[in-house]
Amino acid sequence: MSLRLEAEAFSAFCNRFDKEEVCIIALFEAKWPNGFHCPHCQHPSYYLISTRRLPLYECRSCKTQTSLIKETVMEGSRTSLRLWFQAIYLHSRSSSVNALQLSDLIGVTYKTAWLICHKIRHAMSRTDSAHLLTGIVRVTDGIYCKRITSTFDWHKQEQPILIGASNDEVGNIGYIKIKLQSKLPLRDKYDCPDTQPFLRNHVDPLATKNTIITRRYRRYGKPIDKTLVMESHHATWWIGRLFRGVGPKHLQAYLDQYCYLSNHGIEVVFNHLLDACSTTHTIIYSVLIGRSTTIRSLKRLRNSVRVSQQTG
Ligand SMILES: [Zn+2]
Repeated sequence: MSLRLEAEAFSAFCNRFDKEEVCIIALFEAKWPNGFHCPHCQHPSYYLISTRRLPLYECRSCKTQTSLIKETVMEGSRTSLRLWFQAIYLHSRSSSVNALQLSDLIGVTYKTAWLICHKIRHAMSRTDSAHLLTGIVRVTDGIYCKRITSTFDWHKQEQPILIGASNDEVGNIGYIKIKLQSKLPLRDKYDCPDTQPFLRNHVDPLATKNTIITRRYRRYGKPIDKTLVMESHHATWWIGRLFRGVGPKHLQAYLDQYCYLSNHGIEVVFNHLLDACSTTHTIIYSVLIGRSTTIRSLKRLRNSVRVSQQTG
């Protein structure tokens, strides 16, 4: 779709979800598609408390109060639902957006946009992890950001990956997963990662024994699965074009985003992604950047010991 058509489609979307009330109704339906049920006792009736920015739903049986954004990726966020919806919409497009573009388009700070992007990606990753490859499954190794060199050594941007796909009815890729692998057990970049953990975690046990495993280059007579190998190049191109340099720390989330958009048709992807964001627990900033509360607690404890030693 051209940039002009993309801009018109985004404008139409903004007009459709132009008020918080409209977003509240849509989020309610995505969160509770079969009607409200209390998260504590499953009771289906509630009293509506609408004195807050977002409505609260008080269970008529056990009196537990539930927020609309509790246990969603939006939990704890002060950003309006209207802007969250715009962010989810923009992530549902194959062109997608990076954090800088999102901050410009919806008018939030870069840090808020970065966090929203990662939370939406988290919903994509969690949805993907619940889906196993079934039927005829193919797996190959690949290299993310492969450089054209004859050396056996890894370039620092190259990362080993495993690519798995289940076929659709006509033998094309129906559902794809790309998972980052550790370089540590590999002798060099021509070594193949162990496929067993990938098969255990991402392939239906009924499909595992018939899974076709190939290599990204011809060796020991093993065939090459060119369509799967091409996916590593497409993923590299798509991530590189949109996000520029992505390090190994967050690369898996971007690979999951690439696969999510490949796996879900453009017509349904907004509704699917809204459902995913409405039913996925959020991920907090400290976990995203790899700073756990345990480490922070230990640092605080260490600092307090230092202070007591100095004053004592
Ligand atoms: Zn209840």
